[in-house]
This record gives sequence, structure tokens and C-alpha cells, in this order.
Amino acid sequence: MRVLVVEDEKRLAQALQRGLQAEGFAVDVAHDGNQGLWLAIERDYDVIVLDIMLPGLNGYRVCARLRAAGNETPILMLTAKDGEYDEAEALDTGADDYLSKPFSYVVLVARLRALHRRTGRRLPQTLAVGDLAIDPARRTCTRGGAEVRLTAREFAVLEYLARRAGEVVPKREILDQVWDSAFEADLNLVEVHVSAVRRKIDTAFGRSALETVRGAGYRLAADGG
Ligand code: CA
Repeated sequence: MRVLVVEDEKRLAQALQRGLQAEGFAVDVAHDGNQGLWLAIERDYDVIVLDIMLPGLNGYRVCARLRAAGNETPILMLTAKDGEYDEAEALDTGADDYLSKPFSYVVLVARLRALHRRTGRRLPQTLAVGDLAIDPARRTCTRGGAEVRLTAREFAVLEYLARRAGEVVPKREILDQVWDSAFEADLNLVEVHVSAVRRKIDTAFGRSALETVRGAGYRLAADGG
């Protein structure tokens, strides 16, 4: 199950990301409304956890714009009990459920699972690029059926490239997507991880699917061998 968490309180967002990953979910985090809206449109999620008070674009507006754009991804909105915003308004803008802060983590996970079941949305579980298969929910990767072992960060880099298969993806974009924004941004990190991924998915199999496009970035393409 793929989850997008849109939450500007970084410690809460990080705690949610780690906790939900431990449940086996694939989790992306956005720290403001615009980034959240962009991710929600660009990528497929099974459910979105959306805070209301966000910099840039608040949660109501993110939700309303997604619905106006025809995006029906289930949304669980985080509301503040003592705030000026209320639950009725959350539901009015197109949210499917809401939870008041502070919330119990166990309750959040249960509500996300229920929301996912109720909406019954089923996305392809596996990303396939040629005979390279990537399963974001299980965090597994195979090449021609043979298991490829990747670190969590390598997996995230590969998953991102696979979602954009065939396109040139700039290093900066990979850095922004895969590394926490609080992390010391260093493009060398991307190079090191891409090299490691390439050794594991290509070199080890005599393939060349992960291409370096000089001055532009990287491109992952189907390589039948
Ligand atoms: Ca907030």
C-alpha cells in the first residue's frame, strides 16, 4: 500500500513515515501543500494523509484541487480539535475520513487500512521495466526472477527511476524525492547510490538498463539483455 503523508511538522511526518514503513507501507512525505498536491497528481497512492494547516496551500485547498482534477485517491485529513477548522468542512472539501490531533498511531493505521479496503482501489503491485520487477509494498526487486538485494535507500532510488521509466530524471530531483529535505543535500549521494543500484541490477546480470545521460541525469529503460 502506497501512502502519501502531507504534514509540515517534520518530526511528526518522519515518525509517521517510519511507523508506516514498519507496517510494510511505501511512504512518501511532502512538507507543504504545493509539494503534496504535485506528488498526489504525479504519482499513484492508495491513500493520502493530509494535514489541514500547511504552508503554501492548506489541506482543504489541496483536497479540493485534487477532486476538481478528477483525482479520487482516498484522503484522511488530520484536524486539530481546538482549531478554527472543523471536521465537517474537511468532509465537505472531499476528504473521505478525518482524525483529530493528537491521534493514536494504532487508530491511524486501522483507519488507513479501513479506508483502503472500503475504497477498494487496486493498483498494480509491481513495477516492471523489462524483466526488472519492483514491488514497492514488499520492498522486493527481481531481475529475470532472480532476487536483487538493495538497501532501503537504493530501493527508493530504483523505485523512483522505475516510476519514471524511459524518462531522463535529473539528479537533483532524485535527491529531493528520495532524501529527507532535512538531510544535507549532496548530489554525490545520488551518484553513489545510482552506482550501487547499477552494479546490482545491471552489471551483475550483464545488462545496461540504467543509463547516465551526461549533464542531465539518469534514465532507466527496459533492457531485455
Ligand atoms: Ca500543520
